[in-house]
Amino acid sequence: MQSYPLANIDLAALKHNFARVKQLAPDSCIMSVIKANAYGHGYVQVAKALMDTDAFAVARLSEGVLLRDAGIDHPIVLLEGVISAEELQTASEYSLSIVFHNLTQIEWLVAAQLKEPLKFSWLMVETGMHRLGLPIEHVNNALDALTQSSNILGDVGLMSHFANADVVNEARNQSQLDKLSLCAKKDTPISMANSGAILSFPDSHGDWVRPGVMLYGASPFDDQLASDLDLQPVMQLSSKLIAIQQLEAGDQVGYGGDWHASKAIRIGVVSIGYGDGYSRQLSNIGQVAINNKMATVLGRISMDMITIDLSTVDNAAIGDEVILWGGAAVAVEDVAQQANTIPYELLCQVSERVKRVYQNG
Ligand SMILES: *Cc1c(COP(=O)(O)O)cnc(C)c1O
Repeated sequence: MQSYPLANIDLAALKHNFARVKQLAPDSCIMSVIKANAYGHGYVQVAKALMDTDAFAVARLSEGVLLRDAGIDHPIVLLEGVISAEELQTASEYSLSIVFHNLTQIEWLVAAQLKEPLKFSWLMVETGMHRLGLPIEHVNNALDALTQSSNILGDVGLMSHFANADVVNEARNQSQLDKLSLCAKKDTPISMANSGAILSFPDSHGDWVRPGVMLYGASPFDDQLASDLDLQPVMQLSSKLIAIQQLEAGDQVGYGGDWHASKAIRIGVVSIGYGDGYSRQLSNIGQVAINNKMATVLGRISMDMITIDLSTVDNAAIGDEVILWGGAAVAVEDVAQQANTIPYELLCQVSERVKRVYQNG
């Protein structure tokens, strides 16, 4: 059965982008970030396409468990750590690695009797973002407590996260990096760089880089496209034209009727809406590609449908493919700007109803 809307996932593009990370950070190990369903691309298929990575990272325990249950054997780091002593036990049973970011987690660790000691553990340091992490003055004691615990095997690395990695040459990035570097002893592994820093701040690469959005072929910078960075879009989101309407001057379109025809016009109805993750912010402004031409969204985005102006597309017919983003036609970065958001959000929002189809696996 042919299903639509479709998210076509190009695994060759994913591998190209992974190779770009290696090329940009040749001396660092790679922790590929596949949280939030691999930014909407599918946890397991993405993990299986990235077997050359040194480790994976997700946000939460449930995501790590899902990957282990799917047979992924790599180190898997929980970027948010655990939220209870029970979660800590489960993490150890599933051989998941933990980012410790508060003292409570360290107390659970010290008091626990884990069946298996944790490997490849990290301590999150607060360097300027004020989201997760221990203040610098607590770092030494916390590192000692962790490394002396029999529940931990091997090194504990130091991690921090940039608040402004999307801003190139930003002084606050250097200041965050300096703070982290000051805490590190000679052999302590360091991890700081996400996509923005991998692409624009080589000094920050350290021992482990943590690419997310660039793996999926989207730019973290609001003034550059993936193509400017030699990244290839991995997802193409498409659907089908399911109806064509001939309107007369004055006719209204969609909920609220906030668009109306000023002259006779042909419009098309496409089977995709906010229930699929096509943002309602794109009402009246989204741009889609159909038959190699661009068409503008008219009226409000509905849950399952959008309406588009076909006056630029004479040959449009029911059943034609409509591209919402991805591929050469429509950059997800441009769609994100129209929707007043970032590519990350659009990609993550693609809902379960959209079938993922994998190419070049
Ligand atoms: C999500 C996340 C990343 C990846 O960030 P990108 O900007 O997508 O590359 C890296 N590190 C941490 C701690 C994260 O939460």
